[in-house]
Amino acid sequence: MDWEQKLSDGVTPSKPVIAVDGPAASGKGTLARRLAAHYGFAYLDTGALYRAVALSVIDAGHAPESEPHGVAAAETLNMAQLDEADFAARLRTAETGKAASIVAAMPDVRAAILSAQRRFAENPPDNKSGAVLDGRDIGTVVCPDASAKLFITANAAIRAERRWKELRIGDAALSLAEVLVDIEARDARDKSRAIAPMKQAADALLLDTSDLSIEEAFTAVLALVESKLNL
Ligand code: C5P
Repeated sequence: MDWEQKLSDGVTPSKPVIAVDGPAASGKGTLARRLAAHYGFAYLDTGALYRAVALSVIDAGHAPESEPHGVAAAETLNMAQLDEADFAARLRTAETGKAASIVAAMPDVRAAILSAQRRFAENPPDNKSGAVLDGRDIGTVVCPDASAKLFITANAAIRAERRWKELRIGDAALSLAEVLVDIEARDARDKSRAIAPMKQAADALLLDTSDLSIEEAFTAVLALVESKLNL
């Protein structure tokens, strides 16, 4: 697949799109979901797509590093599966997150996922009046013409603590130190990959949530988005 061609295929969506990028546990998912509810827009967690590809590869008995299996899983991705309770729960584990960042570095996996994300932005489901997508490359690659772009970040120690509090519910033995190592490794992989690395788009507005509650962060995010959207 010609990646350069794929990138230039993007069309300007006719409905407003809010792009929310940032590293793991920065708060971007919670904020993106709340923005979608606030505006009545459709919401897509694009990390879940990479997680689903990784989980399908693992479930079929292959290593996440196996590129042909990753590409086949991405090309046959069943979006409906994301809503199945058991699959959805297994998507959230630390192991799946790590595997997701491995398959996400494969150009043909990204190309297959790219089309699905752009279709969502261009035609939000249920005829919603706009879309919010969160991920790592929404403002830079998936929707470069998004109406508003946010880059949400927080320092690694705080992000690790947030993620640890979520993950220890299902895995009491997990240590904070392990989660921090994992988050730092994932950041490094996501930032350094050759294709669509995680980075703040030049026209994205930056919010550091390290010292903010969810309510404070949402108030700040809403003010940033309002400055860009004319709704
Ligand atoms: O956001 P989440 O932690 O669920 O993402 C899992 C992994 O999927 C990330 O670490 C990243 O490697 C990959 N990802 C990506 N591009 C996106 C969304 C997620 O590469 N737009």
